[in-house]
Amino acid sequence: MEKVLDKAHFSRFLGDLVTKYKVIGPTKKGGATSTYTYTTFDYVKRVEDLEIDYKSSMLSPKRIYFPDSQPLYKYEKNGQNVKLEDLREVWDKERVLFGLRPCDITAILCLDKVFMEDSFVDHYYQDKRRKSIIIGLTCSETRQHCFCSSLGSGPDIESGYDLLMTDIGDSYFFRARTDLGKELISADYFRNATDQDRELREAKLKKVKERLSEKVDPAKIISVMADKYNDELWNEFSDNCFTCGACNMVCPTCHCFTIIDKTSPDGSEGTRVLVWDSCHFERFAQMAGNLNMRGEKSSRFKHRLYHKFYYTAKQHGSVSCVGCGRCMEFCPSHIDVRAALRRLQEG
Ligand code: SF4
Ligand code: SF4
Repeated sequence: MEKVLDKAHFSRFLGDLVTKYKVIGPTKKGGATSTYTYTTFDYVKRVEDLEIDYKSSMLSPKRIYFPDSQPLYKYEKNGQNVKLEDLREVWDKERVLFGLRPCDITAILCLDKVFMEDSFVDHYYQDKRRKSIIIGLTCSETRQHCFCSSLGSGPDIESGYDLLMTDIGDSYFFRARTDLGKELISADYFRNATDQDRELREAKLKKVKERLSEKVDPAKIISVMADKYNDELWNEFSDNCFTCGACNMVCPTCHCFTIIDKTSPDGSEGTRVLVWDSCHFERFAQMAGNLNMRGEKSSRFKHRLYHKFYYTAKQHGSVSCVGCGRCMEFCPSHIDVRAALRRLQEG
């Protein structure tokens, strides 16, 4: 089903959403530095709370399902008795995730494979996913590092959402993919989409696609990687890497974590916390006996790209990079993984 909403009625639509659901969307609440204004996903109640024209967020909506520094449980010991309190967030009912970009929606589908479809299911993640209503928003502009079109994660996508919105000038074009999505656009302030609206949408997305000039070929990269594991290229690619882990922290598909215990000095009480981890950190692959499988920084750099492009393709049938560009935008050493991928696909 395809409908169109005049922008003048957008506040009515949002008003109806917030009356029924808690709504999470792009906001300016993240603050700013001298060079960057952070868009962050947070709860919104009014149109003024939303930053609907945002280009990208530093942290992706991944943190809604898989937050960093996530308290898991609290314990209290009293002699032989131990009291445990589960601290993980559980949603009482459905929530709307509004304004997600196609690359970030595709990234959530990648995380689903890890947290819901592998041998171990994270039931808390699964519960939130089942209670999620996703309203995507296609991009009107591109950023310097975007390459979603090479990886099939934008500028248009076919799945992963209830509704997908496109700004077509004075109106928003809505495409529904689920029954709930259809219900959300059934109010009388929506009108049926015409062929002219469809053409406008196509023209908008075509323009965005044309601006995504960077092309990588995942199939070629996967086939080349099979023989490049011991190549000298990895030393060259990683030469300027500080191993800071920023690329992992901003990546919408990275999901490695470690567990820490915050305990009182006498150990009688404490909290167990999940924190995001980075495969670039020197001790990430350290094991008992002081054995470190990836002591060299080049091996850690290589591992990140093999994981994104080779291992997940073998395990899940698709790469786990969605071309959002965050790892390049926020790399303090300006390392452009697309350049490494280009060199690889050249053979
Ligand atoms: S590897 Fe980089 S471009 Fe790919 S999804 Fe992660 S942050 Fe985005
Ligand atoms: S953000 Fe850049 S410098 Fe930091 S670990 Fe990643 S590639 Fe290396």
